[in-house]
Amino acid sequence: MSKITCQVLVVGLGPVGATLSALLADLGVEVLAIDKSSDVYPLPRAGHFDHEIMRVFQQLGIAEAILSHTRVATGYEFRNAKGEVLFGIGSDGTLASSGWAPSYMFNQPGMERVLRDKLVRTSSVRLQMNAEFKSLETSARGVQVTVSAQTGEFVVDTQYVVGCDGAWSPVREALGIKLVDLHFDEPWLVVDALPKPGCRLPTINLQICDPARPTTCLPLGPGRHRWEFMMRPGETSEQVLEDSFIQKLLAPWNADVEIDRKAVYRFHGLIAEQWRKGRVLIAGDAAHQTPPFAGQGMCAGIRDASNLAWKLASVLKGDAAADILDTYQVEREPNVRSYIELAIAMGRVVCTLDPEIARKRDEEMLRARAAGKQAIPLMAPPPLMGRAVLASTSASGEPFPQPIQGRGEETVRLDDILGPGPWLISRTMPKDLCGVRVTAVTIDDRRLELFRATLDEWLSGHNAEAVFVRPDRYVFGVGLPANLIEAWRRTLSSDNHTRAETMTPIIS
Ligand SMILES: Cc1cc2nc3c(=O)[nH]c(=O)nc-3n(C[C@H](O)[C@H](O)[C@H](O)COP(=O)(O)OP(=O)(O)OC[C@H]3O[C@@H](n4cnc5c(N)ncnc54)[C@H](O)[C@@H]3O)c2cc1C
Repeated sequence: MSKITCQVLVVGLGPVGATLSALLADLGVEVLAIDKSSDVYPLPRAGHFDHEIMRVFQQLGIAEAILSHTRVATGYEFRNAKGEVLFGIGSDGTLASSGWAPSYMFNQPGMERVLRDKLVRTSSVRLQMNAEFKSLETSARGVQVTVSAQTGEFVVDTQYVVGCDGAWSPVREALGIKLVDLHFDEPWLVVDALPKPGCRLPTINLQICDPARPTTCLPLGPGRHRWEFMMRPGETSEQVLEDSFIQKLLAPWNADVEIDRKAVYRFHGLIAEQWRKGRVLIAGDAAHQTPPFAGQGMCAGIRDASNLAWKLASVLKGDAAADILDTYQVEREPNVRSYIELAIAMGRVVCTLDPEIARKRDEEMLRARAAGKQAIPLMAPPPLMGRAVLASTSASGEPFPQPIQGRGEETVRLDDILGPGPWLISRTMPKDLCGVRVTAVTIDDRRLELFRATLDEWLSGHNAEAVFVRPDRYVFGVGLPANLIEAWRRTLSSDNHTRAETMTPIIS
């Protein structure tokens, strides 16, 4: 049997596997990415992503290309059967802290093709399509993976495997990892349509909480519109997928559209018990699944990729001990859970078929809204915890903002100025970087001229002399520059007794 060697085998080239492969390759890691299909998944799926995801695309140099498949989301409303607004999230056009619009609507296959084009242009990634993961064997030295391709089976000899192989994840199965059920499971019909010229449709995202037929209505990327219809008890997939059935559902919308794609899904919430077993990890839908009401399933997977890429690259370069990989699930799971809990809370509001329960829900939500309260609490996800952040310091584990200057094509963003890898942004330069690979700049640095006032304000607001920003743009910690360098060095080292979490607090 033929053998291929690589540093990381990525199984599955959905949005998560493609993002992870691209991030790893940009960090100099030799990646082999395989997928059992030849093209991107054709059926309707994600329609929304947020500003943090756009920042990851910016890091990959594909933000402009992705933008052509998006439109900025202008609002999200839950309305009852009478059209009254029960709950709403507005957008006043202000940019989010990541330097991008808070939310984008998009066409998933278009976005996935941009990611794959990037991979084709990237020399340290090899792509093997029509290649199916079959089994794996781990040893102290690495992992041997058997792959079945059209030309026969081959073995991949690799140091790490990441299963980004979706909800049914054969990699997760091979590891014997169980899913924890978060108790939400509802069947929905999803229809993507191409509006004809002159067709007028809602321009904000809507949940129509009508117990007769809960319905989602979303303007997707340019020239596309999405409807999702909750299936009623007794309806079958075959029945609801009939064009004549769909036309009846669309009739109240007076929509002159061509039906492009349709599918039936069960919307559910699940989390894998374990995301790493030695040299094998799982990410994206393989590790967690959420109902789509918060538009966060793919976003969560891309955050996994961003969290994992620098850790894997650091281990493979010898800059970090392998147990930094244990911080992956510790950091990501609470963040994922908070989004799944929000989506389930939204889903419980939407997926109400009993008219009496719906009537009481409407009364309560209208009362809350009249009192100026959000009936569905929107809370920021918790900051990252664990030993890869300095939990004792201000802002640690929170995303570091990306200041921007200018407009349109003239826009300048901090991440493009400072580039990849960790940053130390400080009022004074430490005497010695102690061999730590970091972009160290003082706020007087000429490159930071456009952002000096914002960075100065941020440091003052956190009473800090310096901030250390991780490669995934989360704050490692604030404090004195020399102490931050030393804390980062110890965090990456394998010496458990001198890790950041056990150090005395760093006073700025
Ligand atoms: C109706 C709907 C609406 C959604 N809306 C949103 C939204 O608005 N926002 C959002 O963020 N998310 C949304 N999601 C979720 C989002 O689509 C998924 O979270 C995302 O596609 C998961 O990406 P992934 O790369 O983890 O997995 P996938 O996209 O499923 O990719 C897995 C890949 O693995 C490959 N594979 C599987 N088995 C093997 C094997 N044995 N060998 C090799 N390759 C294999 C598959 O061919 C596939 O290409 C929605 C989902 C649905 C269904």
